[in-house]
Amino acid sequence: MKRGTIGRRGWTVLKSGKTGCLWWALGLAVCLAGGCRRNAVKEESFSVMGTMASVMAGCSDAERCGVYARRVQSRMKEIESALSVYNPGSDLSRMNAQAGKGLVPAEGHLKMTVGLSLVFGAMTHGAFDVTVGPLVKGWGFSGGEKPERLPSPVMIEERRALVGYTNLVLSGGKCGLTGKGMLADMGGVAKGYAVDVCSRDLKQEGATDFVVNLGGNMRCFGKPQAGRSWRVGVRDPLKPSGTIGWLELGDGMAVATSGNYERFVEIDGKRYAHIIDPRTGWPVQGMAGVTVVAPSAATADALSTGLFVLGPEEGMQVLTLFTNCAALFVPDKTEREILVTPGMEKYFHVDSAFSAQVQRIGRQTH
Ligand code: FAD
Ligand code: MG
Repeated sequence: MKRGTIGRRGWTVLKSGKTGCLWWALGLAVCLAGGCRRNAVKEESFSVMGTMASVMAGCSDAERCGVYARRVQSRMKEIESALSVYNPGSDLSRMNAQAGKGLVPAEGHLKMTVGLSLVFGAMTHGAFDVTVGPLVKGWGFSGGEKPERLPSPVMIEERRALVGYTNLVLSGGKCGLTGKGMLADMGGVAKGYAVDVCSRDLKQEGATDFVVNLGGNMRCFGKPQAGRSWRVGVRDPLKPSGTIGWLELGDGMAVATSGNYERFVEIDGKRYAHIIDPRTGWPVQGMAGVTVVAPSAATADALSTGLFVLGPEEGMQVLTLFTNCAALFVPDKTEREILVTPGMEKYFHVDSAFSAQVQRIGRQTH
């Protein structure tokens, strides 16, 4: 367990055990609004699911931060052992191994995340699609071999033919995939789901003021101290060492960011990130980062991935299906644009250096 410190300007800086540098967890760091007395807020971090996680406890809960962190760590380990595509013994891997042969019992975390995947698959018209597993591996992610050169169009087409969330079945207490070679990868939703489960655990323990963070998927409750609010920095996907602004998140609100700057392969000098467009079989081009604010971490996580695929125009349409969700798009182009959807103005405060680059898209629908 690592303890964070309250750094400059009251930011809570999560120190990653791996590199010792700032661990921004996919573009987000937690800042305590208006600075907070040093050590007033406690934070404990640990590694899980190939990334860093942490629990931050506001002043009222600070002395129980260690207890909460251990509770969260063991729950996240439990979810990791059920849903890791890196672990051949996980429930998810067992379901994948039966693809095209049969279904497996739909229980616990597997049942919940298969259900979420079907909902988000349908609501994003297949842009969020956990059955992209064969393509994710083919492009060298989720434990797949890093390609030296561009995968052949034949290979991409073969794998793309295995993709489609409607091939994922959840019925009669069983779940599975209908075709041989199909593979579900929960990398785009399981962390948000884990944050929601852990948040519920801590609420049941009586915690009121805390943040659960898993690889940048965060959910905030209460406040760091009376009259303050949790603030989450949004990293600049075009210059990841800096931020473009921060989010002020109310009780129970979650945030997730999907970006092209953490997990990517470089082939012939070009960067191919880990978010795959299920329609083409290729890594999404033209988008650098999408941040989503939502009333649950699973929704924020799945939507940030789905909207990253769809882009601002189509993404806007999908967002109208969700209440209390808002998004911020940063296209991958030299002229920085910060495209914010209706409702984001309630949460997002842009750093003054970028205020001229903010453009509101879409119209308020609810
Ligand atoms: P998001 O932006 O939320 O989604 C991107 C991820 O979702 C991709 O990495 C891919 O897995 C998947 N994806 C790609 N395209 C799509 C799409 N169109 N629709 C839906 N999903 C898509 N990493 C390790 O290095 N080592 C580990 O041991 C490890 N264990 C893990 C165990 C679990 C249970 C999980 C959920 C993940 C694990 N990871 C591991 C991966 C890592 O934690 C993150 O999943 C990865 O960094 C992507 O996180 P993200 O929030 O950036 O992804
Ligand atoms: Mg996601």
